[in-house]
Amino acid sequence: MATSFSSLALTQVLPFLPLAQGDIDYQTERRGDPNLIKTVLAQDGTTVVFVRDGLLAVPDGQAARVDYETAKIRLAGVPGEYVLRELGDSLDDCEQTGVIAMFLGSYDVSSSHPQAVVALDVSGLAKRCEKDNGNNTGEAADVPSSIVLSRALERFDWVSLLGFAPHASAREAGQATTATALSMWHHSQRHCPRCGSAVRPAMSGWAQQCVNESCEAHSSLLFPRIEPAVITSIVDGQGRLLLQHNKAWKDPSLYSVCAGFVEAGENLEHAIKREAGRKRVFSWAK
Ligand SMILES: [Zn+2]
Repeated sequence: MATSFSSLALTQVLPFLPLAQGDIDYQTERRGDPNLIKTVLAQDGTTVVFVRDGLLAVPDGQAARVDYETAKIRLAGVPGEYVLRELGDSLDDCEQTGVIAMFLGSYDVSSSHPQAVVALDVSGLAKRCEKDNGNNTGEAADVPSSIVLSRALERFDWVSLLGFAPHASAREAGQATTATALSMWHHSQRHCPRCGSAVRPAMSGWAQQCVNESCEAHSSLLFPRIEPAVITSIVDGQGRLLLQHNKAWKDPSLYSVCAGFVEAGENLEHAIKREAGRKRVFSWAK
């Protein structure tokens, strides 16, 4: 087993790609441990970051920096032990807590002080709190009394991945990309695509398990579908760059180089040729 981890060479030779710069060791071999989240939270040096409805928690006041090109933004993080102390075993029951825990991996895994990162999706908890705030009956809400999570919801700013990544360190942009992608998948796939039963998070947040024990997805698990896309600059013989405007975009002044999703079995060259041939508004720019 490798004792150290290095980023893929591909991302090191390409220009800065904000969503493909992560250097964390995913430690995939640990994901199957059902107690991994609690074990990692108990370790010194573990950081918890937060995601909610596709948005990332950043320190109070930093959301406004999205509009300033050179401004830096970081993820809001709290020590893992704080979360473990308050949630403990209830972390295993996302239905009860409204929280989904995802183990993102560790840095410096070969050192005596590895630094792990856990992302908490608090979308479900946030919805319960909003529901409670609109509840005028005076009845107590069924919301876990976590000071850490309450403060995260109230005090942190929340920004989108596209707003965050260009202002973030490569390391945190990587964490944010994984946390956002897994979070959105968990919330978009609420039922088993094979049998329609409920699903619950598995493999430390990287998979789902169908609750129906007779379903194949109970033992084989469900994993996020990755949708490959391609983006390419097309230049003609006069050195002009082809730009396209998608009619679905609300801003009529928005143009992009040619890009799109790759279809099943399609090679990348064909995908970009097909996308370039779609009937959109074209423009050539020097
Ligand atoms: Zn199923």
